[in-house]
Amino acid sequence: MSVVQRDGETRKWYLLGVLGGLWITGHHLIKNLFNRKQMITLNYPEEKYEYSPRFKGNHVLTVKKDGSLRCTACMLCATNCPAECIRIVASEHEDPSVEKFPISYEIDMLRCVFCGFCEEACPVDAIRLGPEWQVPGLCGDNFIYGIDRLAYRPQLKGGIQSFVDDEERHKAGI
Ligand code: SF4
Ligand code: SF4
Repeated sequence: MSVVQRDGETRKWYLLGVLGGLWITGHHLIKNLFNRKQMITLNYPEEKYEYSPRFKGNHVLTVKKDGSLRCTACMLCATNCPAECIRIVASEHEDPSVEKFPISYEIDMLRCVFCGFCEEACPVDAIRLGPEWQVPGLCGDNFIYGIDRLAYRPQLKGGIQSFVDDEERHKAGI
């Protein structure tokens, strides 16, 4: 590739621009040192940004009253997922009143676009997008979230209960 340089460009003088940039950087440095409360940046991870309650962060698989997964492995979330990042393996349940349940439920967090379609598609409030947004990991495998992480990670303190209750549904004949 050849680059054609016009005559004027050979005589360009950059020092003023460099000095201007240094002045702006120094000005903000001094200002921030003496007015820390007015800083527009946060000292992460000590300080964390407070997002709206509607924020769609890391997924949560909800549980029933007995702590088992609320998910019925209907596949609606996986079918609606535009990123095709949900993989479910369904199995029959030993309890005849439970039609199906997932023996494996995985979300590839590197493909997820946090659109919330899975949450909206679920008929039994079995999946939600919660307030957590940190997704740390050292290799690709760390970003495949399974049931343990989606439903029973320590931050969930034993699991988040679904709004849909089987007993109430049976009573209502749903
Ligand atoms: S938030 Fe969107 S992209 Fe992510 S798993 Fe749910 S449907 Fe798929
Ligand atoms: S999370 Fe909801 S939509 Fe997805 S398989 Fe389970 S019950 Fe169906």
